[in-house]
Amino acid sequence: MTREIYSEQDEAFRQEIRSWLGANLPEGWGTRDFRLPRDRVERREWLRWWQAKMAKDRWVAIHWPEEFGGRDATLTQQILYHTEMAEHRVPAMIGRRGLNMAGPTLIVHGTQEQQERFLERIRFAEDLWCTGFSEPDAGSDLASLRTRGELDGDSIVVNGRKIWTSGAHYGDLLYTLVRTDSTGDKHEGITCVVIPLSADGVDVQPIRRNNGTSEFNEITFDDVPVPVGNVIGEIGDGWRVARTSLAHEHYTHFVPSQLNFAKTLEEIIKLAKSTKDASGRPRSELPWLRERIARAWVATRLVRINGMRNIAKIVESGVPGPEGSIMKLFGQEEEKKLYELALDVAGERGIFDRGAPLAADRGKWGFGYLGSRAATIGGGTSEMQRNTIAERVLGLPHDP
Ligand SMILES: Cc1cc2nc3c(=O)[nH]c(=O)nc-3n(C[C@H](O)[C@H](O)[C@H](O)COP(=O)(O)OP(=O)(O)OC[C@H]3O[C@@H](n4cnc5c(N)ncnc54)[C@H](O)[C@@H]3O)c2cc1C
Repeated sequence: MTREIYSEQDEAFRQEIRSWLGANLPEGWGTRDFRLPRDRVERREWLRWWQAKMAKDRWVAIHWPEEFGGRDATLTQQILYHTEMAEHRVPAMIGRRGLNMAGPTLIVHGTQEQQERFLERIRFAEDLWCTGFSEPDAGSDLASLRTRGELDGDSIVVNGRKIWTSGAHYGDLLYTLVRTDSTGDKHEGITCVVIPLSADGVDVQPIRRNNGTSEFNEITFDDVPVPVGNVIGEIGDGWRVARTSLAHEHYTHFVPSQLNFAKTLEEIIKLAKSTKDASGRPRSELPWLRERIARAWVATRLVRINGMRNIAKIVESGVPGPEGSIMKLFGQEEEKKLYELALDVAGERGIFDRGAPLAADRGKWGFGYLGSRAATIGGGTSEMQRNTIAERVLGLPHDP
């Protein structure tokens, strides 16, 4: 265990969130006496209820300015907050895309009317937001997007397709990029609009992932009229809006899950101690596994330090920078390695499906391994993070 020294104020902050969680997490939390609902719909309702409960005492969006319901949290407070959340095994906020991406984007580019209409509802999980950027032929090269938006009086009429949209099967609002002018450079003529997912002409179809879940979707828009009042930023200036959003994604969206890695590694160590090889020896005594566990321990610490460095940058300048790519690249590559390690520690019991009687830890490692393969694609691929680091951090020549 590392020993860290915090100021009295920060220690008081840590105690405050710790005691709040202690007093408010449901009875039996962290033991077999409490289980989140198994049914997906019920679980989502529970998660909405939980976020609203945290929001009531201003324990969500602590990185937002106070005037919008946040706490203007300092770097150390954000780290302590996410560490306590990880320590208590609090699940990721169901409204995280609104809290970490749409909210900060509205704070920078939204009108006062939009901020009043949307921000509080984001904090209280009354509206769950989704990000509709990727299209079948526009992912890494996002500016090639082709979904059209035609101005018609006070509306923009949207036609086209988005893909890989996380959470759209239960989300309420989508903020998305549409092409309102195709005459200039591909980065020009893009507009960012908010579309209710229940609007006429919006069709959401789930896509099945390799681990059997369907967490992302394909969306088609067929003559969907969007009021001009739902444009974030100026018409035609959507690329700038998108960049704010993506910078926040790299910056804050991945920190909570990355701080969880240390906890996941603790579980892997426990598994290594309790799993025996053919000769009856605990796998934790195998030299090659011990070495990999030690490497993973170092990596989880480095991920944490990188996360702190990135949050420090935003606290200092107010704007996320390209350094977020370092955290995204390194952290998500580590996530994959962590699950590869877990499978090697679990041995043959690691590959059983969830619920199979012989599965190690009820099948969570095989399931996590499959899910983690997408970690270095979603939110921008590792190759694209390397491009950003090369060009914008190291000043190397641009990718042709
Ligand atoms: C779990 C998950 C959740 C997602 N959620 C969302 C969401 O909510 N909203 C949303 O809009 N999108 C979402 N996405 C989509 C994601 O942003 C894209 O998959 C990603 O940006 C890559 O785009 P692509 O799939 O079109 O691949 P492509 O861009 O076609 O890339 C294919 C391959 O080519 C490589 N490549 C491409 N260009 C270059 C280059 N210039 N230099 C080097 N290599 C390059 C890539 O690294 C990749 O290996 C999600 C994806 C996943 C996996």
